[in-house]
Amino acid sequence: QRKRRIAVLGSKSVGKSSLTMRFTQNTFSEMYVPTIEDTLSKEVTFRGQRYVLEITDTAGQESGSPASSAQTLNVDGWVLVFSTANRKSFEYLRTVRNCLLESTGHRTLPMVLVGNKVDLAANDRTVGSDEVTRLAQEWQCPAVLTSAKTNQNVQEVFDKCLYEVEKL
Ligand code: GDP
Ligand code: MG
Repeated sequence: QRKRRIAVLGSKSVGKSSLTMRFTQNTFSEMYVPTIEDTLSKEVTFRGQRYVLEITDTAGQESGSPASSAQTLNVDGWVLVFSTANRKSFEYLRTVRNCLLESTGHRTLPMVLVGNKVDLAANDRTVGSDEVTRLAQEWQCPAVLTSAKTNQNVQEVFDKCLYEVEKL
């Protein structure tokens, strides 16, 4: 059984905890509870191998450094989350990624770009899927549009992240 560590990063309130809870426990809450930092795990099977994913749900980075050294230590894969209803949270991920590249010294990292809250009404969508695709192309990483609320594409996020980790 192999253990892989995944960290979930992004602005406050984009749904990092909700995605983590939905994936590990299949629950969702409308309530907003600020996270300090939490690690939840889940067993998955990938290419016939059993893995334990240890998912670190971070506090949200805009109050301090986008990625503290503690968050980058021993992490195998990264899930970068924004809300499709919040343009600033999308733009903020550039800062997060730059900090990760700088603090790890790598030119590229196993990561997945995630646009959450796609269940919200179309007029709440301020980030278009074409823009998401373009950024993912630039970063050469997969992009997934999700809803932690309706459980749309949540499994795909972690499947793709593990794929990115294991393809190296
Ligand atoms: P975090 O700060 O990034 O961990 O964000 P949370 O997971 O705590 O979610 C912030 C708020 O957004 C909460 O009120 C959640 O119920 C709500 N939320 C999270 N994901 C979704 C989603 O996919 N759709 C909708 N409509 N609301 C969501
Ligand atoms: Mg949280």
